[in-house]
Amino acid sequence: MDAGVKTKKPGGQLERARKGEVNAHALIKSVGIIGAGQMGNGIAHVVALSGYDVALYDVQRDTIDKARVTIERNMARQVSRGIITDAEMQNALTRIHIASDLEAIGEADLVIEAAVEDEAVKRKIFTELCPKLKKSTVLATNTSSISITRLASITDRPERFIGIHFMNPVPMMQLVELIRGIATEDETFTLAKSFIETLGKCIAVSEDFPAFIVNRILLPMINEAVYTLYEGVGTVESIDRAMRMGANHPMGPLELADFIGLDTCLSVMQVLYEGLADSKYRPCPLLVKYVEAGWLGRKTQRGFYDYRGEKPVPTR
Ligand code: NAD
Repeated sequence: MDAGVKTKKPGGQLERARKGEVNAHALIKSVGIIGAGQMGNGIAHVVALSGYDVALYDVQRDTIDKARVTIERNMARQVSRGIITDAEMQNALTRIHIASDLEAIGEADLVIEAAVEDEAVKRKIFTELCPKLKKSTVLATNTSSISITRLASITDRPERFIGIHFMNPVPMMQLVELIRGIATEDETFTLAKSFIETLGKCIAVSEDFPAFIVNRILLPMINEAVYTLYEGVGTVESIDRAMRMGANHPMGPLELADFIGLDTCLSVMQVLYEGLADSKYRPCPLLVKYVEAGWLGRKTQRGFYDYRGEKPVPTR
């Protein structure tokens, strides 16, 4: 723990953090979000609706423009269902600002990284970002699987670094996993916990091991479904129907894989395979082939299903 923090007077920020008395709204006004893909836009949506200012950045400018359209459409759907009011939607939309470069999120009190699941990309982002941040800014990553401790170690603030793992689609899913790295301070943990609570989400705390809790269990199941297809045990439709109707899952595993993104699924399996050195996590060669083809699921309109027509059609 940082010596400077230890010397803080009792009753100060650290003491309150230890007692769990921190209110995120008092300490966080603006949130920077890096990556405006399906997770980044969902995170921006819930964060802005909860009253925080958002600065949204993506390396691809057109992705940010698309994200704004998606957020507006998703909020309008919530208005039509009576989940939020039109005034809440309008207020939230005015809080979302486009950051044209990393410099523009330097003033954020909390930054959530939600770029592609590629460790080299995330490392590059943190290396470029850290010199632009205020000393007090808390850094979080939405990684699905990569070690929080390892990512924290390349920043200038491992004690103020934490894993905040949202589920997809963010506006609808209740759970957020909270993962501390080896150096994460209590103050950071408590602030992140309060922040998630202000978003109206529930927390599952996970230790920092490959893929945490949800994906450690979910992705091997999806990978096994792809093996089941690869070995010809069942067709895409029969595998999905079997798990929907035979195991009461709301979505079949291949539909779900398309929804998550096959590139993300493969990255998570690679992290499990390498991180736990166990052959049971070997990514299915068919999953690799789909990713190599650029058939990444819904986001590219083709994966285990083809989404270009009116109805999804199995691709095998
Ligand atoms: P996505 O492919 O939809 O979006 C990723 C975005 O990152 C893209 O818009 C891309 O342009 C952007 N990007 C790439 N390099 C960048 C850089 N250097 N700087 C800024 N932006 C950059 O992926 P996603 O599904 O939104 O996943 C994002 C993160 O969230 C990943 O770490 C993933 O593991 C995690 N996650 C995904 C899911 C899921 O179900 N898809 C769920 C939880 C967490």
